[in-house]
Amino acid sequence: MSLTRTNAARPGGQGLMERYRRYLPVSKNTPVVSLNEGRTPLIYSEKLSRIAGLSVHLKYEGTNPTGSFKDRGMTVAVSKAKEKGARAVICASTGNTSASAAAYAARAGMSCYVILPEGAVALGKLSQAMMCRAKVIPIRGNFDEALAIVREVSSRTKVALVNSVNPDRIEGQKTGAFEICDAMTCAPDFHLIPVGNAGNITAYWKGYRDYAAAGRIRRLPRMMGFQAKGASPMVSGKIFSKPQTIATAIRIGNPASWLSADLARSESGGLIDAVTDPQILAAYRWLAAEEGVFVEPASAASVAGLFKLVRSGQLKKIAGSALSRKTAVCILTGHGLKDPSTALDCIRTPRPVPARLDAVLKEMHS
Ligand SMILES: *Cc1c(COP(=O)(O)O)cnc(C)c1O
Repeated sequence: MSLTRTNAARPGGQGLMERYRRYLPVSKNTPVVSLNEGRTPLIYSEKLSRIAGLSVHLKYEGTNPTGSFKDRGMTVAVSKAKEKGARAVICASTGNTSASAAAYAARAGMSCYVILPEGAVALGKLSQAMMCRAKVIPIRGNFDEALAIVREVSSRTKVALVNSVNPDRIEGQKTGAFEICDAMTCAPDFHLIPVGNAGNITAYWKGYRDYAAAGRIRRLPRMMGFQAKGASPMVSGKIFSKPQTIATAIRIGNPASWLSADLARSESGGLIDAVTDPQILAAYRWLAAEEGVFVEPASAASVAGLFKLVRSGQLKKIAGSALSRKTAVCILTGHGLKDPSTALDCIRTPRPVPARLDAVLKEMHS
């Protein structure tokens, strides 16, 4: 019998653990569990550049294997859990963490437990986790309560916790910064990103600093994080016990990485701001309609934030006279197909017409 092992010719194949091995906690003994994540497109937006007055790129994380940036962290977290002998992983999730954990656990031959806030997870994500045979347990509570429970479970049992409080998740997710710097041959001036549990802004900041320490880049970006107004504890300085937003992926009232995200903001001379649901939905629709980039609502918070900074004149004020020579990258964290119901709520359902040329022509011009 001969097996062709194209992808597995080297363990991990084309995944980011191989590409960025020397920056990651991976050794010869680490069984690399990969779905060829990373290498996501960095898309130049001429329209956003014109609107904002500086060069704007979109980092589209929706093309990762399970459709969100969570895969970058999960390849490392599941590989390390397997290396340590764990046979099961557990996470609390607003959706994408569960979809990613379930996929990587399936690939690794491990079990996966998922604790979700009942009724607050987009349909696409739930179906992904269940198809990858995760044990899904909805609770009558919010994400923050789910996270408290899984932390307790993992401290009492051998089930490995794969939320972003696991440092291996942060290590994997920092590779997003490496890819941006590799593509631009420097760091952008402004890094705009949605903030929920605040793991990703923490990870990107670590990635930029690691690359600077390695001599790959000379200067660091300003980190600009955006929370949804109804779930904006870092902006108001107090925990939200009942976070509310249409952007379910960032519906978090007490971010686990609050402190490190705050450090990213202060050390980089950046900011954490809030955008309203109407602002998020406007950016969500704009990205699909004007750039053909369909993201999930939470992902649009970075672009909603850019629009807000442009409108208020704040971007100009921070950048000074050299605005046109500056660069910004907006992170688009997840794919639009994750949450088809929000998309369908935004559009008019098309009405069938008779199967005749004249009827179709008439409808085309209506
Ligand atoms: C997880 C997630 C976020 C929030 O990232 P944090 O690391 O929790 O701040 C934003 N958008 C999407 C699509 C996500 O899945």
